[in-house]
Amino acid sequence: MTETIETDVVVVGGGPCGSTVATLVAGQGHRVVLLEKERFPRYQIGESLLPSTVQGICRLLGVSDELEAAGFPLKRGGTFRWGVNPEPWTFAFGISPKFAGTASTAYQVERMKFDQILLDNARRKGVDVREEHAVNDVLEEDGRVCGVTCTDASGVRREIRAKYVVDASGNTSRIHVKVGGKRQYSEFFRNIALFGYFLGGKRMPEPVSGNILAVAFEHGWFWYIPLSDELTSVGVVLHPDALERIRGDRERALMELIAECPMIADYLSDAKRVTEGPYGEIRVRKDYSYIQEKFWRPGLVLAGDAACFIDPVFSSGVHLATYSALLAARSINTALRGVGTAEETTLFEEFELRYRQEYSRFHDFLVAFYDKHSDEQSYFWKAKKVTGSAASEVQSFVDLVGGGSSDERALVDAGSYLDRRDGDIDDMIWQVAEAGARIQVQAATGSTEDEQVPIRSGGLVPSPDGLHWSVPTQV
Ligand code: FAD
Repeated sequence: MTETIETDVVVVGGGPCGSTVATLVAGQGHRVVLLEKERFPRYQIGESLLPSTVQGICRLLGVSDELEAAGFPLKRGGTFRWGVNPEPWTFAFGISPKFAGTASTAYQVERMKFDQILLDNARRKGVDVREEHAVNDVLEEDGRVCGVTCTDASGVRREIRAKYVVDASGNTSRIHVKVGGKRQYSEFFRNIALFGYFLGGKRMPEPVSGNILAVAFEHGWFWYIPLSDELTSVGVVLHPDALERIRGDRERALMELIAECPMIADYLSDAKRVTEGPYGEIRVRKDYSYIQEKFWRPGLVLAGDAACFIDPVFSSGVHLATYSALLAARSINTALRGVGTAEETTLFEEFELRYRQEYSRFHDFLVAFYDKHSDEQSYFWKAKKVTGSAASEVQSFVDLVGGGSSDERALVDAGSYLDRRDGDIDDMIWQVAEAGARIQVQAATGSTEDEQVPIRSGGLVPSPDGLHWSVPTQV
């Protein structure tokens, strides 16, 4: 007989997206089961993070001290040999007032360590984390998703019944099809990535030694990411017409491509490729830029790579994964307080709209950035145009590629939410209008003076604690 477990929310996948949404929902007292098919630590690509994740979401999750103790290299910005400028150019997150002071840095992380920290934190914060549990399908009743079926490592099958299912299973799982609509692959970003790891590569001089280095060359571009004093992640992103080059011997293909890119060849001149352990394999990824037509349906939400992913040149993957996790957590937390169907639609539309907006900004900017016949000034101009920012062109660019261009305090000033939660949370009175058409979630402490602005007419704003949606008081 199949064992059945009842919970409030089931999260599929324990990557950064799954751990984040699970932690932020469990923190509100809801029951959350997280199912992860692997046993951690497990390998994943996506090592260069943005300040919005490290200084924003990770602070909300309460893992800042652990991340600091892990000793990940500090990333202050990026260095690019890109466009018509023959010289490398560098940007620092710190030039934008949005990323003032300590908020101006991110980390380069070994994902096996970073994802483990986030998953362990979820467990500590009350999430029922079950590793080696592969989700096979969703359960449906009356047009609503109401749980999942899974199988553990010993072959035991379970049904987990829940009010909400979050698909945070990344780009590989098939659960996303249950939301309806198609996964639309980008016609423009049909690139292929080939990547491996090296010991003993050179470092850029201080203070930019921890920057990501991106170097364009004839066949595409290289990333060069310092993961420790010794270890470097090196990958090449190739146009689809170069597919033939990587068929067969991947090691030979990678080494030949490195030899064709003088700057990367120089940085690796004394380095040795890692040939054993999780970093010993040379991996390939292709067809990795896509977006789902729909991000949710009643009972099911797609977040992180399960919903969309865009080319990695500005390291936006984990930012989109963790930001969408926060947006989904707000919708779920508010819905679990008890709302009707109309309000549920409003809550999840807010999630989808904000998530799509952030994705589109990166997408539209990256299309222009792939025009290698421009210079950095025109890239900065494009960032200003895409974001509609009133800031200078270079600041608009830095705000975008740091993950801070949305009007989201949680991503650039997470401390203000934490101060509020530490101080006022016990005094807050939450009012949820069950019968009315409005969702009212409002602090009784008179703390709406710094309320954020909705991004559309009739839209919602983050609540004072940042973990729910609220109807704006000034409309
Ligand atoms: P994942 O990290 O993929 O986690 C999903 C989890 O779900 C996995 O642990 C998986 O085991 C589990 N799972 C899958 N199916 C099931 C199932 N059926 N049941 C239970 N569990 C399941 N991002 C950056 O931020 N910086 C970068 O520098 C960067 N570089 C990249 C380079 C390349 C070539 C590519 C392709 C991507 C890169 N990314 C980068 C993107 C990054 O890898 C992803 O955006 C990020 O990992 C998404 O996080 P996630 O939590 O949504 O999914």
